Amino acid sequence: QLSKRLACVAAHVSDLNMVADIGSDHAYLPSFLCLENPQVKAIAGEINEGPFQAAKSQVSQLGLTDRIDVRKGSGLDIMAPGEAEAVTIAGMGGGLIAAILEDGKEKLPGVTRLVLQPNNAARAVREWLLENQWMLLKEDIIDENNKIYEVLIAEPGLDQHRYQKDTEKKLLLGPHLMLEQNEAFIHKWTEEVENWKRVLVALEQGKEQEALQARKGMLIKKIEMVQEVLCNDT
Ligand code: SAM
Repeated sequence: QLSKRLACVAAHVSDLNMVADIGSDHAYLPSFLCLENPQVKAIAGEINEGPFQAAKSQVSQLGLTDRIDVRKGSGLDIMAPGEAEAVTIAGMGGGLIAAILEDGKEKLPGVTRLVLQPNNAARAVREWLLENQWMLLKEDIIDENNKIYEVLIAEPGLDQHRYQKDTEKKLLLGPHLMLEQNEAFIHKWTEEVENWKRVLVALEQGKEQEALQARKGMLIKKIEMVQEVLCNDT
């Protein structure tokens, strides 16, 4: 049983047969895809020894060793150009996802879809896609256990026209998400704006203590997010 977040990522690659999941941790996503569809083969990439071993044992317990190749290494280093139809990168910060794509650019020709789930800073991912001729086809935003996750789906192509107007707004909020404005979207951005306002008001009133408290709340959130990324290695 996949988390709602990973199920959302999976839904966007379920029509493709060769998927590379980067930062796969326990290889839950590729395992799910293979169990769902006997045609699917996958690569699970992991940089850290703990999650790499976890992925290997998950894949072998499920009897999927002939269909999921678990490889150790950083980002897209673990694959050759043309090896995968789709690349998924989930559960990391947007900055890290953009850096992985940038560092592994030469591995992307042949990849027909990217499904990216940044835990934060989705703006960095949208900007990378835009600058590197990947078209943002669709975006999802979901709420799981009171945490909001964004999922970006891109295919090769020029996307300049989408960002011609209101570029900054669209990069930050998501061009599709801001049109749709579902409940999770409204929840996320209402909360963000409230936080920013709290800091601003406290700063304007010279209430250093309150400003510090509000900033502390934001820092705690960031720490939680980074710790999630480092998961098994901390
Ligand atoms: N993708 C899974 C998910 O969404 O549930 C696991 C997310 S986990 C929070 C992030 C994983 O990415 C960790 O297992 C970490 O070791 C791995 N990771 C971080 N940087 C990486 C990189 N440059 N290349 C490959 N894996 C990386």
